[in-house]
Order: sequence, then structure tokens, then C-alpha cells
Amino acid sequence: MAKAFEGHVLTCSAADCSYNDDRCCSAPAIEVGSDHPMCDTYTTAPVQRAAIEPAISDCSIGECAFNTAHACHAAAVTMMPHAGHADCGTFRMA
Ligand SMILES: [Zn+2]
Repeated sequence: MAKAFEGHVLTCSAADCSYNDDRCCSAPAIEVGSDHPMCDTYTTAPVQRAAIEPAISDCSIGECAFNTAHACHAAAVTMMPHAGHADCGTFRMA
């Protein structure tokens, strides 16, 4: 059964995201996907920050080498700014 991989080291250089806490992601869980590996959880609206490392709960980029049945298996993930949102910089073509 597919399960989100817990305990990612998730760093982020999208400094304007509300979840960005000193370059660490403070969202309880994030989703990655759309037509390219973008962070669907990126927001500039007020948010409730979590005190735990986020899980990547769902990634719909099936061509990524780290993606198995929508679960991310990269040990460390880095998000970076891209055209007004954030993209997964850890994405690798399988
Ligand atoms: Zn993007």
C-alpha cells in the first residue's frame, strides 16, 4: 500500500511562501504536481505553521525517479522559486 514517506528534510528557498520558516518548510504536509513538479501547497495567505517535518503526502509527477505510486522517496527535498510559485528542485527524470 502506498504511503507518504515520513521525515523528509524539506528545505525551501521560496522565501515569500507563508510556510517558509528560515528556509525550512513548516507545512504539515505538501503536495507536488500539476503539469510540472510544482509545490501545490505554496501560498502567501496566512497559515498555521506546523512544528514537525512535513510529509510529501502526494506527488503526481509520475516521471520522477523518486516517485512510486504518488509517494516521494527522496530523503531530502529542496523547493525553489519559479514564476510566482515554488518548484521541486529534487525532481529527476526516471
Ligand atoms: Zn513551477
